[in-house]
Amino acid sequence: IPYAADRGWLRGQLRPYAPITLDPAAMVLHYGQAIFEGFKAYRQPDGRIKTFRPEANARRFNSSARRLAMPEMPVDLFVGAVDALIRQDRAWVPSPVGESLYVRPLMFATEVALGVRASRDYDFLVIASPAGAYFPQGVKPVTVWISEDFVRAAPGGTGAAKFAGNYAASLLAQMNAAAEGCAQVVWLDAVQRSVVEEMGGMNIFFVYEERGRPVIVTPELTGTLLPGITRDSIIQLARDFGYAAEERRVTFDEWRAAVREGRMTEAFACGTAAVITPIGAVKSREGTFSIHDNETGPVAARFRDALLDIQHGLAPDRHGWMHDVV
Ligand code: PMP
Repeated sequence: IPYAADRGWLRGQLRPYAPITLDPAAMVLHYGQAIFEGFKAYRQPDGRIKTFRPEANARRFNSSARRLAMPEMPVDLFVGAVDALIRQDRAWVPSPVGESLYVRPLMFATEVALGVRASRDYDFLVIASPAGAYFPQGVKPVTVWISEDFVRAAPGGTGAAKFAGNYAASLLAQMNAAAEGCAQVVWLDAVQRSVVEEMGGMNIFFVYEERGRPVIVTPELTGTLLPGITRDSIIQLARDFGYAAEERRVTFDEWRAAVREGRMTEAFACGTAAVITPIGAVKSREGTFSIHDNETGPVAARFRDALLDIQHGLAPDRHGWMHDVV
């Protein structure tokens, strides 16, 4: 769907997947205005197809657009474009639980101009691909690497936007993590270099135990981390389960101390792609410590099962999260 400053959103088109052409002076190639979203479509037991919280992704897309001086898009145009793409081939969406169709809407600057300013023209596209488990080892806990050399987002920056440049800036840290045998980077805040913010493509949760009951803790949305839709869903599910859920700061020192002292029993990462992945071990320059004996804990498993059951239509959708596509 093209956008022009003087005419707004123009008529879109469904086209076979193919390369697109860009002018060498298209502004996205020089000044990087590119944002995207990611969510999934799931086949239901009766064969119908539903997406998970697409309006929430549309709203986050618009908040990314505002931060990058790009045009916002009506929520129904965004959701309708995705629905139209999915509808043209039902067979796209796999049925096994855990498998889905990953949908990737994106928008980038197309105006041909060399001056540094916001583009006047944009293209919005949606592509999609069947998806299995995010981590090759499935639900087995992962080892994560604490990034002490690089930061992902600074106050006032673009950390809360799903902005392509955030990912470009994180690739080197991700490579370093892989070289350390870790599946993901854990980002610390840019100012104190101590507060845990999020992971490469996922938000993070800590499970504390207070008087025998789980207390779910996740970093507060300070503007430097992505407000994950899965994160928000887990906070809502925690209340359904009768668990306390807190959004607050947790430093790396506190994380390590809480595990050592037995106050923290689990940690897990969450996001569209991986749903919920337990964190089994945490590696930094100083050494490695493990959590829950590097096994999946009951709280992570409960959230994972609850979310997957809602997404695949195996449990009632009490929060109205599922959107009918076809
Ligand atoms: N943080 C980052 C940096 C991400 O890329 C993602 C994936 N979109 C998330 C968190 C999790 O967000 P969501 O639950 O909406 O997929």
